[in-house]
Amino acid sequence: MVKAEGVHKSFGLAHILKGIDLEVNPREVFCLIGPSGSGKSTFLRCINHLEKISAGRLYVDGDLVGYRQKGDKLYELKEREVAAQRRDIGMVFQRFNLFPHMTAVENVMEAPVQVKGETKAVARERAERLLDRVGLGDRKGHYPAQLSGGQQQRVAIARALAMQPKLMLFDEPTSALDPELVGEVLDVMRDLAEDGMTMIVVTHEMGFAREVGDNLVFMDGGVVVESGNPRDVLTNPQHERTQAFLSKVL
Ligand code: ATP
Ligand code: MG
Repeated sequence: MVKAEGVHKSFGLAHILKGIDLEVNPREVFCLIGPSGSGKSTFLRCINHLEKISAGRLYVDGDLVGYRQKGDKLYELKEREVAAQRRDIGMVFQRFNLFPHMTAVENVMEAPVQVKGETKAVARERAERLLDRVGLGDRKGHYPAQLSGGQQQRVAIARALAMQPKLMLFDEPTSALDPELVGEVLDVMRDLAEDGMTMIVVTHEMGFAREVGDNLVFMDGGVVVESGNPRDVLTNPQHERTQAFLSKVL
């Protein structure tokens, strides 16, 4: 579903991603951990072409992200084509970024109506179903300010799902939440995983990675230091840098 081949990313002179190779299979929960500044968010942003990679190849569902290849030449996709690629990728951030002037159900309906041209009736029906699914059936008419952080984040997940993505990217979806609200968001993510959604999850929740993850990658300094089965990596890290990092967070 996602394939990275020698992905590099620089911002000016700052070389941030230094050759990332990895593969995420369909229906897999792929967890990404690593210290602050190691390039985790940058990598996620490259996957939906919010950042342009400096070298290498990145594929989502077999398609080159942001480019078309003809012979051995690459041509940049037009903005409209990039938007079409992005439509299939849901993204959930640390901050929920809901539209404050719209109710929960309006937030979830917005993209299908505006981007896909769905009728409001169809979009509303799916939005209500999704809000039921994330446990917010009784909060559909609430505005973001009337919802807790955990509830807002669950609306954000429902909003991403409303576009019926084939891939979901999560960038530390629980790290802005009060500790008692983390569980309800992780439960929704676990449910999604059980349903077979392909997910890449940047997280500090090692329990989630261990229980739900199929694969765990430890990134440091813009490279993949170690990867494997989450249980193996977490209980028996092979690399010194992984050991040092885990000793601080576990
Ligand atoms: P954290 O755990 O704190 O979220 P991270 O692993 O997600 O860290 P990134 O946000 O990917 O790290 O940042 C990696 C490096 O890239 C940092 O040094 C950051 O300052 C730099 N960086 C990220 N975005 C930009 C940008 N738009 N311009 C310049 N430098 C950037
Ligand atoms: Mg980050």
